[in-house]
Amino acid sequence: MQKKYIRICPECHSTDTQPDLSADSYAKGLLNQRKCNTCGHTGLFFPEYSPEDVKKIQEKRP
Ligand SMILES: [Zn+2]
Repeated sequence: MQKKYIRICPECHSTDTQPDLSADSYAKGLLNQRKCNTCGHTGLFFPEYSPEDVKKIQEKRP
């Protein structure tokens, strides 16, 4: 069975992220940049976790 990994925001741990395809990121050549829809954080580093780990991480938040 193939394992699925979910990218989460390193700032707020939201799973609601998407590739940042704005003209701004194209201009900078940051084609792999992602954006968090929850807190608006953008960056190249969005860690990937398994669904179980995402649950654990989100449960730790106050
Ligand atoms: Zn975020």
